[in-house]
Parts: sequence; C-alpha cells; structure tokens
Amino acid sequence: RLVSAAPASPKEEALERALRPKRLDDYVGQAKVREQLDIFVGAARKRQESLDHVLLFGPPGLGKTTLSHIIATELGVRLHQTSGPVLEKPRDLAAILTSLERNDVLFIDEIHRLSPVVEEILYPALEDFQIDILIGEGPAARSIKLDLQPFTLVGATTRAGMLTNPLRDRFGITARLEFYSADELQRIVRRSAQLLNAPIDDEGALEVARRARGTPRIANRLLRRVRDWAEVKGDGRITQDAASQALALLDVDPKGFDLMDRKLLDALVHRFDGGPVGLDNLAAAIGEASDTIEDVIEPYLIQQGFLHRTPRGRLATLATYRHLGLTPPQRDGD
Ligand code: ADP
Repeated sequence: RLVSAAPASPKEEALERALRPKRLDDYVGQAKVREQLDIFVGAARKRQESLDHVLLFGPPGLGKTTLSHIIATELGVRLHQTSGPVLEKPRDLAAILTSLERNDVLFIDEIHRLSPVVEEILYPALEDFQIDILIGEGPAARSIKLDLQPFTLVGATTRAGMLTNPLRDRFGITARLEFYSADELQRIVRRSAQLLNAPIDDEGALEVARRARGTPRIANRLLRRVRDWAEVKGDGRITQDAASQALALLDVDPKGFDLMDRKLLDALVHRFDGGPVGLDNLAAAIGEASDTIEDVIEPYLIQQGFLHRTPRGRLATLATYRHLGLTPPQRDGD
C-alpha cells in the first residue's frame, strides 16, 4: 500500500534513513519519553555505565527505530540492529551478544517474535551479562558460562501485551510512543521538505500533516508523493491546494484515512450493522490479516474515536456513521 505505515522497498528505506533525526533535540514530539531518556541517558553517560534496557512500543512508523539510533548516538556507543524473526537459533543471538563492546546498544525490532529458545538465552544476558553456551555434542557436551560486556537492549514491539512476562520484567525503562499531533507532524514535514529541497509553505505542510494518520513515516511518504505531484502538475511549490489535490489522487481523505481504513469502517457499518463484530470476521470481510488490523489499522481509528474495541467485538461510533455520510441508527439505551 502506498500510504501504509510499513517500511517498503530498499529505496524507501534509504530515503527514510536520510530523513531520520540523529539527536534527541531533533526528535519531534513524544515529550515525556524524550525527557525521561534525556535524564537516564545523561546519568548512564556520566557514570560510564550501560543504560538500563529499554522497551519501546507503539504502532509502526512512530519512531521506535529512530529513537534507538538516537539513544546509541547520545550514549556515544555503537548500535547493532536485528529483529525477532531474523534470530532463528540461539547461536544467532549468541554471536551478536559476544561481539558487543562495552555499553553498546543492541536493537531488536519486533521483539515479540523471538522464538522461545532464543528468548531463553536472552534472560541471563540481560540480567547478569552472561550467556550459557553448549560445547561439544552427545554425552560429552557441557555448558559453559561466558561473560559479556555490559550492554543495553532496546526492544521494539507494536504491542507490549504480546511480550512474555519474564521478558517484559527485564526492561528497566518502558516507553509507549503516541500518535503525533498535526502540529508536530507539520514540523516533521517542514524539516523533511528542507532536506529534500522541496519548496513548501506552512499551509502545505499542515495539509500533509493533517492527513498522515498521526504517523511520521506516513507524513514523509505523503510529502514525497505530493512533491512529485507539485513538480508535474503544478509549479513545484507545495501549497495547501497542491497538497489536497495530490492527496485526493492518492485516496487519502481529509481525515487522513486511506482505502483500508475506509474499507474497514464501511464493512463494519454495512455488513455487520455497526457491530459488535469479532476481529476475525472483520478481517475475513475486508481480506486483511487480523494482526495487520490490530497493529496497523485499528489503533489510529480508535484514537480518533471512529471505532470501539469491546469485549464482544468491534463497534462503530457516531463519528463512523457521520464520516460515511450516514444517519446513525437508534440503539437501545442510547
Ligand atoms: P518505527 O521503528 O516505529 O516503525 P521509524 O523510527 O522507522 O519508526 O520512523 C519512521 C520515519 O519517521 C523515520 O524515517 C523518521 O524520519 C520519521 N520519524 C519518526 N519519528 C520521528 C520524530 N519524532 N521526529 C522526526 N521524524 C521522525
């Protein structure tokens, strides 16, 4: 999907890296998280100790990877990046752990997808900076303890609830990233436009910001598409008018909902009478994986008040009906 929050092609990823802020001061929004990290990172640096392990959670595209790089930069150490699904065998993780230098940062994206056997060797590593490795085979095999350099694990996940308790308990710092306000996204868009050498005015930046689903990755992606439009169809300048015409072409509506958002709301109202409907039924109806709905599509709809998650299933709100141009039904007890 053009505007989805998931990272896309290698080219897109290279562009994203180029737009990534490098220091905590340049990281827009997330004031509370920034303030906390500023203190903890400063203290760790002063004592020349490793920072406590950090768990970052929140929907894709909100800046978890960016923040992990910033933590390493601010600590003045190297960052090693991997992800849960990539670490198939305990020895994959052991190889990385033993290569870490004093106080380095290890970033594990999608940490909820670590296999249980890999997670097992992570526990003593996090707790005592030690790992148990098996030497030899058969009856002669024995386990030896290896000391590691002190390090900081930064784990990222879309949902904290998917972590096992023993893993979650080993993080000293837990930060939940929130959706960004239009104001914050406007600042991000202006900064990115400058880096891309794209002329943009304040209203143009705000228009892109307003339609970015509260997500910096989407804001940057929309900006690039709007720039293309302005260069081909306009005079190159990104004004509010240019932005809204380009975004209409991309099927991003004025609330920032894309095709998938609208498909979900539409199914909820028209096929399930506004709900409550179970996640799996909703997923089948719109042809999208339940995980994607829960991690990527729903959080923003819920935050904006267009969807309720109830124990009995997903429920449309008055705003859902209004957004689709419908009259809300009278419900019992309303
Ligand atoms: P995540 O790891 O949560 O999926 P990323 O860290 O990859 O998200 O962020 C996606 C893009 O959004 C980055 O390329 C970066 O340019 C931009 N970005 C994210 N958070 C911020 C922020 N707080 N300030 C400025 N840009 C940001």
